[in-house]
Amino acid sequence: MLHGAVNLAQGFPDFSAPAEIKLAAQQAVAADVNQYAITWGAKKLRDAIARRLGVGQGLTVDPEKEITVCCGSTEAMIATLLAVSNAGDEVVVFEPFYENYGPDAVLSGARPRFVKLRPPNDDGNEWTFDEKELRRAFDRHTKAIIVNTPNNPTGKVFTRAELELIRDLCVEFDVLAITDEIYEHILYDGTEHISMASLDGMRERTVTINGMSKTYSVTGWRVGWAVAPEKITNAIRKVHDFLTVGAPAPLQEAGAAALGFSAEYYRKLAEGYRSRRDHLMPALTAAGFQCFRPRGAYYVMTDISAFGFKDDVSFAKYLVEDIGVATVPGSSFYNDPRDGAKQIRFAFCKKPETLDEAARRLMRLRRN
Ligand code: PLP
Repeated sequence: MLHGAVNLAQGFPDFSAPAEIKLAAQQAVAADVNQYAITWGAKKLRDAIARRLGVGQGLTVDPEKEITVCCGSTEAMIATLLAVSNAGDEVVVFEPFYENYGPDAVLSGARPRFVKLRPPNDDGNEWTFDEKELRRAFDRHTKAIIVNTPNNPTGKVFTRAELELIRDLCVEFDVLAITDEIYEHILYDGTEHISMASLDGMRERTVTINGMSKTYSVTGWRVGWAVAPEKITNAIRKVHDFLTVGAPAPLQEAGAAALGFSAEYYRKLAEGYRSRRDHLMPALTAAGFQCFRPRGAYYVMTDISAFGFKDDVSFAKYLVEDIGVATVPGSSFYNDPRDGAKQIRFAFCKKPETLDEAARRLMRLRRN
């Protein structure tokens, strides 16, 4: 542990995964599911993914032709971008963005075009984007737009109206939507997760990415997937084969068991995170942070202007070295670091005692 700090930086839970899926993984290893799975994913897991998309989003997906299981949604995203992009293409990315999207676009030969999500103002509104700015980012070079909802780092949950606006641009400019829905079950305050693929006109132009990491608290298992129309799936499967051959075989079996959990599991998951959010946020406010209330995912973006530091990186360094709490500087989520210079992100996917200890340490900011 660096400087003995409490780690509210990275988005991994510090509590146990569900006993049922650990048992399913143990049983799969004991039953010798120890060799390569089918390159594009164990049939049981693909069937379970198709079933869940049917139940959750009303989508009909062919598990034989439209699903590729990868080593985490991270691989699903880069495999998709490598599969669909050519040199000179552009990919629209909302910022602040999950750190991988920019480098992913560049590695695939495309150029990222950033569109700002603007923080809520004092009227209690939500993170929003400017419709005209989004339209300006689309042109004949645009290949795809990446939409991450619920969103890391902002906690924004895109509304149906926003998704429809993006849909209309995708149709008008013949652009693909690549959606990262890894936090789909972590929702608060009555918000609803809407898969872009479920919107009229989007089924045939959407790649839906998801995975086990966040929903089942197993970020180290590295199981994720991309769901896409057959032609795009064929391209993704080729890239995936050469990148990693396949995802861990016994953990895919456990994934099939996990995707069969009842609605109660997902309700409790969201409720657990709501209670953690409502535990951490008052402590951050008391310590002097301005919090942007997340409606989904498990992060709080904060404004640090009140502390008067030069920038986010020097403040994050002070927090880890002198206060004993690790965070992520806001600039890591922006193309131009200056745009994040007044922001810091906290992750609250932690035990109550971890959050309590962080809160206790952060109160030192008040005394300094
Ligand atoms: N996508 C987003 C938005 C994330 O926040 C993360 C992890 O923090 C990932 C993807 C990584 O997912 P995986 O573990 O499936 O590769």
